[in-house]
Amino acid sequence: MEGRPRISPWAGIPCVPPRAVYDGGSLFTLKTYFESLTRRDDIGANSYLLDLDGCRVVLDAGLHPKLEGLEALPRYDRLAEDSVHAIIVTHSHLDHTASLPVLMDQQRAARVYMTEPTGALVEAMLHNSVNVMKSKGEELGIKEYPLFTHKEVERNVKRWRYEPVQRRFSLGKGTVAEFFDAGHILGSVGVMIEHGGQRIFYTGDVNFEDQTITKGASFPQEEVDTLIIESTRGAHPRPEEYTREGEVLRLASSIRRTLERGGSVLIPVFAMGKTQEVLMMLSVLQDSGELPECPVYIGGLSTKMTVIFDEFARSVRRNHHGFEILKEMDLEYSPRGKRKAIQYKPGCIYALSSGMMTEKTVSNKFASQLLHDDRNALLMVGYADPDSPAGKILEAERGAKITLDAGEPPVELWCDVDRFDFSGHSTRDALLDYILLVKPRQVLLVHGDPAAKAWFAAQLAELLPETVTIIPHPGDRISLCAPENG
Ligand SMILES: [Zn+2]
Ligand SMILES: [Zn+2]
Repeated sequence: MEGRPRISPWAGIPCVPPRAVYDGGSLFTLKTYFESLTRRDDIGANSYLLDLDGCRVVLDAGLHPKLEGLEALPRYDRLAEDSVHAIIVTHSHLDHTASLPVLMDQQRAARVYMTEPTGALVEAMLHNSVNVMKSKGEELGIKEYPLFTHKEVERNVKRWRYEPVQRRFSLGKGTVAEFFDAGHILGSVGVMIEHGGQRIFYTGDVNFEDQTITKGASFPQEEVDTLIIESTRGAHPRPEEYTREGEVLRLASSIRRTLERGGSVLIPVFAMGKTQEVLMMLSVLQDSGELPECPVYIGGLSTKMTVIFDEFARSVRRNHHGFEILKEMDLEYSPRGKRKAIQYKPGCIYALSSGMMTEKTVSNKFASQLLHDDRNALLMVGYADPDSPAGKILEAERGAKITLDAGEPPVELWCDVDRFDFSGHSTRDALLDYILLVKPRQVLLVHGDPAAKAWFAAQLAELLPETVTIIPHPGDRISLCAPENG
C-alpha cells in the first residue's frame, strides 16, 4: 500500500461466531458450505462465502444503501486475511459492488471475476462512490470515509478478469464457474459453480422478462444441487392486468397530458440502468408518435453511465441492438459544476438522478422548482424507499409541505404524482417457475425482506416438498448438499 497504512475497516465491530450450522444429515456435506456475510435480514450489503472443500469463493461485495460507515459493510471480519481464492461480482449495482475495494484490500491474492460491461460500470460507480464518501465524510463527520481512494480503485481494476457469458472458466482448486445473462442490467449475470460434481447456481439479481433495452435472463435449464436465489418481489404480487406495454403507454399518456397543459415532467432515475431504460423508452414513444418531440434533460453521472451503455450497444445481447442513445437522441445536458442548477422550463422532460431524490442530488434540487405547480408532474419509475424524499412524496397528500433538504425551506406539493412499475427484478411467479424447473435439492433464499422470503418458503414447502429450503440469516453457515451421486 502506498500513502497510508492498510485500513481495517471492520476493526471495532465485534466478531460473532456463526450463529447456526445447518446439517441435514447424509444429504449434506460439511466439507462444503455457504456463509452469509450480510449484517442484517433485509436487502442490504450482499456478500456470501462459498467454501468448497477449501476453495473459498466470495459472491458479490456490496454496501448497505441505507447505512453509513463501517455498519454498511458486509461481515468481512469473518474472513481471515488472504483466505479467499476468488471473488465473483454478478452486476454493477452498489448493493453488490460498493465494498469491493475493501474486500480486495483484505484478500490480496483473490482473483476477481465479472463481465466486461460490469467492469466498466463498476469502475465508474466506485470512482463516484469515492467522491460521495468524501463529501459525506466531511458533512456527517464519518471519520472512516472514504473507505477507499481513487488510486485504490485504479489498482483494483487491473486485478479484475473479464469473462464472457456461457464460457466455463476455472476458479482454481478444481472449481469451475460459468456466467449466464441475468437480464437485470447491462452486464448482469448469474453464476454456475461446479466442484466435485456439485452444481451450485447463484442467480444474483435477475429478470426473466425483457425490459426496454435489457433482454430477459438466459439461465441454465438443467437441474442443480443448490440454488441461491434472489427473492426481492416475494411479498409483492403484480396486478393481473399489468403488462409492460400497458405501463409504457400509461407513462406516455401522463407525460402527454402534462406537456399539453403547459407543464414539465420530472422523472427521478438512478443514473445507471434506469436512466438508459427510460431514455430508450422516450425515444421509442417519440418515434411512434405517442409522445411529441420535446427537450429531454439528463445530467451529471447519468451522462457518464450512458456513454458506457452506448459503448456496449453492439457487443451485448440486448434489444435495440446498436442504438447509441447519446448519438441518436437529441438530449439536453444539465450544466456542469456543483453550484450550477438546472433551470426549470415548461414543456420539457427531466430524467434526473437520483431515483429516490436523495438530498443534494440533481433530482432533489430540481424538484424544488417543480412540485409547487399543478401543471407539472413527478413520475416515479423505480423503487423508492419509504424514508427517502421520493418515498415521502408518494405517501404525501396534495398541498402537503415536503422537506426535500433539511437545510432548505419545505415546498408545497401541488404537481401530479404517479408511479410506474418498470422493475428490473423478476416477478415472484417467474422466480418460482425457475425453481420448479431446475428442481434444486436445496434452495437458499437471499436478497429479500423477511416477508418476501417467507412467501417463497411457503410455496416451496408445498410444491417441492423434497427440496430443503433455507432462509440464511446473517452469520449462518449452511452445509451444501452433496452431489446426487456423490
Ligand atoms: Zn441489482
Ligand atoms: Zn441487488
